[in-house]
Amino acid sequence: MRIAVLDHSLCKPKDCGASCVKFCPKNKTGVKTIFIDENTNKPKIIESLCVGCGICIKKCPFRALEVVNLPEELEENCIHRYGPNSFKLYKLPIPRTGLVLGLIGPNGTGKTTVLQILSGEIIPNLGVYDVNNVEKYKVIEHFKGTELQTYFRRLFNGDLKTSYKPQNIIDLHLSSNIKVSDFIEASAEYNAVNKVKDALNLSGLWNHKLNELSGGELQRVAIASTCVKDAHVYLIDEPTSYLDVYERIKVAKLIRSLVSKKEAYIIIVEHDLAVLDYLSDVICILYGKPGVYGIVSNTYGVRSGINAYLEGYLPIENVQIRKESIQFTIHPPAPEKPSERKTFQWGFMKKILGTFRIEVEPGQISRGEVVGILGPNGIGKTTFIKLIAGLIQPDEGYSPTSYLKLRVSYKPQYLSPPKNMTVKEFFDLIFKEQTSSHSIGNELIDFLDIRTLYNRKLEELSGGELQKIAIAGCLLRDAHIYLIDEPSAFLDIEQRLLLAKMIRKIILMREASAFVVEHDVILVDFIADSLIVFTGFPNIFGLASSPMKLRNGMNHFLKTVGITFRRDKKTKRPRVNKEGAYLDRLQKKIGEYYYFFIDEEE
Ligand code: ADP
Ligand code: ADP
Repeated sequence: MRIAVLDHSLCKPKDCGASCVKFCPKNKTGVKTIFIDENTNKPKIIESLCVGCGICIKKCPFRALEVVNLPEELEENCIHRYGPNSFKLYKLPIPRTGLVLGLIGPNGTGKTTVLQILSGEIIPNLGVYDVNNVEKYKVIEHFKGTELQTYFRRLFNGDLKTSYKPQNIIDLHLSSNIKVSDFIEASAEYNAVNKVKDALNLSGLWNHKLNELSGGELQRVAIASTCVKDAHVYLIDEPTSYLDVYERIKVAKLIRSLVSKKEAYIIIVEHDLAVLDYLSDVICILYGKPGVYGIVSNTYGVRSGINAYLEGYLPIENVQIRKESIQFTIHPPAPEKPSERKTFQWGFMKKILGTFRIEVEPGQISRGEVVGILGPNGIGKTTFIKLIAGLIQPDEGYSPTSYLKLRVSYKPQYLSPPKNMTVKEFFDLIFKEQTSSHSIGNELIDFLDIRTLYNRKLEELSGGELQKIAIAGCLLRDAHIYLIDEPSAFLDIEQRLLLAKMIRKIILMREASAFVVEHDVILVDFIADSLIVFTGFPNIFGLASSPMKLRNGMNHFLKTVGITFRRDKKTKRPRVNKEGAYLDRLQKKIGEYYYFFIDEEE
């Protein structure tokens, strides 16, 4: 069986003379296999006639086409196809009441599609997309004898009330001038408002309007309004974007508390491994080819599911989903020998902004070094970065980069791309500014696999795509110092780890230095050589420590959060300990919050 998928946004048959149609060997023999569809003016591929030779893929200058071969048996498991020559989803997870089901997998494999199907937003068409009106009874019939049959029967009968937090909250609420209190109370159907307000610390925002909120605040409000609903099904897509570690833990606890509603189904999509692990009881893995097809795995226990995903092999299905496994080390990663030569040092700095005060302890950074920055939102991390970059001047002390005339490249937390600019135009502008060669640029662009996005407009990209472009843009600029704020937002686990590797490599290659603000604790361990930890009172006072060794920094930071990590015996991946459990108490006592491992034999 073949699946041919065409990315309409990339395909420009007028510019390439429809080379896919011209060069198709089946077309040449007179069998009309690929042709320009009169309705869309784009190529249409008849999958049943296609032999999968791959010539059209090679001839397409825009990389708009994908053709893959899949086992015939899979077809009976097709749940949904968006249309002809578009993404195909196979199988569905089986939600169970009273358990949190976590979905894990690369971006573009159908996790959001699954949530939309389970919420009733999309009625699955079982791959028969020619039918205009999808008939619900066919869906119920398809799942005969399984728990999904009961689920869909109840959903379609209106017996399952759903509460859904979508991935993108910014567009949804930013234009609205409704008050937070009105917004949350409007969706509250049982007496949970005060509980949720306390759990997510929303009192300070209660009278604010939605369009005044930052991304992190909006995220908490969106989660609150999802959790106060008296629903039978809670679907929560990427709850941690823009949240700091303290807020992530609070959100995770709130979502877990929904389990007390014994009859509720709870399904989440999350890329912060520590949070996903903490939240979920069971896991389904989505695998396939992003943008082309996705398959939902069987249900695994949370530990074995995440381990299988990291190892790249699903034992129940006997399927290898990745060539290499993702490895963790028990000890802090050895610094890849940042040079002894320091890039610069800074002295004590102080700055007052309105009612907020920041103090910065002295420090220094070496060439090739990546300093991770950890701390709650509103504690002054961005202000610190601006002080270092010389974008604002301190009231006491000196901004080091201003008087040393160091070049700084900055990726902000919130991305607002220029309108009407393609990815290629964006990169061309950056290349034009550079004095050095393009070799790093090409390597970076290959590494991030972003060439296919060249003709897309920046404002049309998904959150993850835009994040990759913004990071590439930041690293492509010739600078002495790179300031990268929350690079992981909207990226999947594999992209996060790839990115960590790439940031380290480029900083070493350039003999530059980097400061990276990051809230995914496991990623910080991958990315940083040393850590600056912020303490104080958010929105009132922030103190930035001098850079510390990774182990000391993690212990210092996690002590303020109050969480400890143990290691999974098989994969050595960090797992959050249950509060008050034996290891949690032991590790807190000996002050080893993160780099702790007991061998099975011991
Ligand atoms: P994930 O949540 O795993 O990132 P999604 O479910 O959002 O994946 O998307 C899976 C694929 O389906 C993507 O390639 C996406 O472009 C495609 N897709 C999503 N919505 C539509 C749609 N309405 N029409 C066509 N393709 C779509
Ligand atoms: P973080 O990056 O840790 O979230 P920020 O550095 O963005 O924190 O902000 C710290 C505090 O300083 C916040 O309370 C913010 O509202 C305040 N602040 C930032 N810039 C200004 C400014 N120009 N005027 C007044 N207050 C500001």
